[in-house]
Amino acid sequence: MAKYKNFETQAVRTQTPRTQQKEHSTPLFLTSSFLFDDAEDMRAMFADEKPGNLYSRFSNPNTTELIDKMNLLEGAEAGWTTASGMAAIFTTFAALLNTGDNVLSCRSIFGSTHSIFTKIFPKWNITHTYVDINHPETWQQFVKKETKIIYVETPSNPGIDIVDLEWLGKFAKQNKIILIVDNCFATPYIQQPIKFGADLVIHSATKYLDGQGRVMGGTINGRKDLIDQIKLFARHSGPAMSPFNAWVISKSIETLALRMEKHSENGLNLAKVLEKNPAIELVKYPFLESHPQFEIAKKQMRLGGGIVTFIVKGGVERGRKFLNALKMISISANLGDTRTIATHPASSTHAKLTEEERIEVGILPGLVRVSVGLEHISDIVFDIEQALEASTK
Ligand SMILES: *Cc1c(COP(=O)(O)O)cnc(C)c1O
Repeated sequence: MAKYKNFETQAVRTQTPRTQQKEHSTPLFLTSSFLFDDAEDMRAMFADEKPGNLYSRFSNPNTTELIDKMNLLEGAEAGWTTASGMAAIFTTFAALLNTGDNVLSCRSIFGSTHSIFTKIFPKWNITHTYVDINHPETWQQFVKKETKIIYVETPSNPGIDIVDLEWLGKFAKQNKIILIVDNCFATPYIQQPIKFGADLVIHSATKYLDGQGRVMGGTINGRKDLIDQIKLFARHSGPAMSPFNAWVISKSIETLALRMEKHSENGLNLAKVLEKNPAIELVKYPFLESHPQFEIAKKQMRLGGGIVTFIVKGGVERGRKFLNALKMISISANLGDTRTIATHPASSTHAKLTEEERIEVGILPGLVRVSVGLEHISDIVFDIEQALEASTK
């Protein structure tokens, strides 16, 4: 694949080799298998002596294009794609961990990742240790000889906490632990964890990489020796991304830079307006000067991204009323869409936890998460302000 100096060019120009039809845009290769020239060709392909596609659970031109593109954008040696973000996360753990291993992670992790740690890992005697995302100076005491992986999200969901990736990269190296970063909120346009020493970067491609709320997908990119283990596991266990989804996501990435610029511009503007609203107790956004890790955010992120969280005064009830009063903004579980989406974790995704448990993971009763979309900023602000007003009644 040709390498270009700039992100935008790489995102647009990384393309699977053209067919004899000389199509300009990559076609959809909707085929489950590929032809062999003869018995010898088939033997050589199965023996891995010859490159090429043999079966779409193994590889397909559309998934290969997406893998190559993400490798170049994340600065990775190798990569893989899966049917969803969770398939990427589970496949990675399943491929790299053995019985008895330990994973160090943060309490504020994505809900289904937390469920893998707590409901699935125990089957294989794999343990996890949660550390406080806001106090990395305390992490060393939790490292055990069994600790094989450090797994973090930065910015975190929904607390928008930020970990210093430069520090973390060194910490992982010193302790000889594999560092995996879920880069879903930032995308490679905003932050490239491999530059700071991450061994693997995972994405739910369902979010900003697709960016239009259409398809599910997951990507894993990083060290070749680790990707080789992941590939072996994935090829035989079958969490493959469909060629259609790869085709959609790869085309979406052509506009990732443009979209992240606008998501971030709208995000920062909304955060600034909300900071002045008397109905709001606290606004968290990476590029607000009031963010406790503002300096770290500036160091490792190009922009602040599209996720803004805020705490509305009046607790769970007010949070619920606020959501019900929205007129344009969608109430939906997704994020990273062109359409602005609001969620109230305390009464939805985290309703099953006790209030104490919620507070432990940073979900205060009045916390609202907004995935700021690409509508005009004044329409987004108008809807949020009118819903804040209406929710006092
Ligand atoms: C959505 C999400 C996931 C899971 O991805 P799916 O595509 O829904 O399986 C993992 N991590 C983060 C941070 C997410 O937002």
